[in-house]
Amino acid sequence: MTKKVRVRFAPSPTGPLHIGGLRTALFNYLFAKKNEGDFIVRVEDTDQNRYVNGSEKHIMDSLKWCGIDIDEGPENKGSFGPYRQSERKGFYTLKIQELLKKGHAYYAFDKKEELDFHRKDHEKKGKTFMYNAHNRLKLNNSLSLPIEDTNKLLNSGAEHVVRFKTPVEKEVVCRDELRGVVRVSTKTIDDKILFKSDGMPTYHFANVVDDYQMEISHVIRGEEWLPSLPLHWLLYDAFGWEVRPKFVHLPLILKPEGKGKLSKRDGDKFGFPVFAVQWKNEKIIKGYKEHGFLPESVVNFLSLLGWNPGNEKEMFNLQELIERFSLEGLNKSGARFDPEKNKWFNHAHIQKADNSLIVEKIENYFSKDLTLFDKEKLNTIAELIKPRLNTLNEIYSCASFFFKNPNSYNEKHFNKLKKANFKKILSGLIELVSSTENLAEIKPSFEVLVKKNEWNFGKVMGLFRLSLVGDLSGPDLFQIASLLGKETCVLRISLLNEALKN
Ligand code: GLU
Repeated sequence: MTKKVRVRFAPSPTGPLHIGGLRTALFNYLFAKKNEGDFIVRVEDTDQNRYVNGSEKHIMDSLKWCGIDIDEGPENKGSFGPYRQSERKGFYTLKIQELLKKGHAYYAFDKKEELDFHRKDHEKKGKTFMYNAHNRLKLNNSLSLPIEDTNKLLNSGAEHVVRFKTPVEKEVVCRDELRGVVRVSTKTIDDKILFKSDGMPTYHFANVVDDYQMEISHVIRGEEWLPSLPLHWLLYDAFGWEVRPKFVHLPLILKPEGKGKLSKRDGDKFGFPVFAVQWKNEKIIKGYKEHGFLPESVVNFLSLLGWNPGNEKEMFNLQELIERFSLEGLNKSGARFDPEKNKWFNHAHIQKADNSLIVEKIENYFSKDLTLFDKEKLNTIAELIKPRLNTLNEIYSCASFFFKNPNSYNEKHFNKLKKANFKKILSGLIELVSSTENLAEIKPSFEVLVKKNEWNFGKVMGLFRLSLVGDLSGPDLFQIASLLGKETCVLRISLLNEALKN
């Protein structure tokens, strides 16, 4: 029987969840759902010094907005809880005792100043100090001290940590599913602290204990954790746990210019969001949601950062991603973050979205100016402006001229027109509009008018557009005229006439 797929997203609540972490969560989720497994969120909050209020909530809100449902987590039921490490101290205490008894861990009483001294002393000699097999017997710990002294120190409550007793001169042969076998000599691994002096486990210890106890089948995490893999591997050995999860280290997300890891600061620099939803701390930093992105587009874009669906298809919704996702499609090399592509995905997903999404926004923005527009007309407006939208936030500026008379005109064009013979044209337009029964069919008579007077078609269109829209861009002009209706069109042409006169 194959083991049930159980994966975990294990964020540390040290700040807002940025897109790198979100992508890790997404890949874990897709893999779980593809394999009918469980997606678990475990909050790794053992580092009290780095704990940031509101961070856990931001993580959960971000996942929720993206549609990433949690099977087991702090706020969800599950039989492997609690799902916050700070609430699991009992497990870790038991487990560290086990390692101490087995002789794979030891107490260390070294003071900070002593360790600093060794570090500096080594530096002077051009060496790097490592707490390891080479010097552990010269340092202040339960391996070097007589047992009575250790007990005395422990009983007196002396400050101490527990360190891992890294096996001496051994080759650790571990496996990453993307990179294959990774061989590391234990000579390069120091005796890492497993339990801190504050009585809390460190990341490495709690992480390994929990993955085992929660029966995690696959650890899918960022590449920055690859160097920790040998230590984690050794911890499984030390406990005598033969079943380890499979390990997958996701490629880095690179800066838009392609070199170096994407950082939060790049978002400011290039003007794109780095969070799913807004982060409120001393100041507010908007996320994709507040910038008018659709969650589908963010998920789609992130899914292709380091994963390849194996064909040319680019547009996926969450369900399609689940069906397609496989670890084989993951890349080893870093994935460049392309802000333009990010926008393109949002544009493309807006085109697929239901018009009602846009109509609803319009109704909110222009609630006081809707009298002339029924649902059908609003739907037409949504249809007309849709192709112009890169974000939902652009709805206001793209739709506003339907509901409000222009309060300014495109300056360059306005000045050009001022010098031209606009009066005759504008009164011609007013006459035409007033005498047309159905504005939707005005185009042929418009053409006749222009021809008869030997006007320049482009110039007349420009004037007409400037009067209705205030600018030279926008959807089909005759459709706009028809939606606005006779009265509004006549009013706006007269308004432009007035403005040009002055
Ligand atoms: N708490 C670690 C982090 O914040 C988790 C690493 C892992 O998934 O093992 O990234």
